[in-house]
Amino acid sequence: MIFSKKKITTEYTVEQCTKCGTITKRKFHQGDILFTEISHCHSCDGLTRIEKIFGETVEQ
Ligand SMILES: [Zn+2]
Repeated sequence: MIFSKKKITTEYTVEQCTKCGTITKRKFHQGDILFTEISHCHSCDGLTRIEKIFGETVEQ
């Protein structure tokens, strides 16, 4: 019996608000650069900064 597992890597971007510290995890978008301030926080008027970009590998 042959097992064929397919591995899929999904990249994620973690943003953290520089004002209130709220962390948001979302899927990586083309053009995301580490430690850049890109969007506005949902909870306050602060800017969110990209803290981490990582990949998660899932076997299917
Ligand atoms: Zn905030």
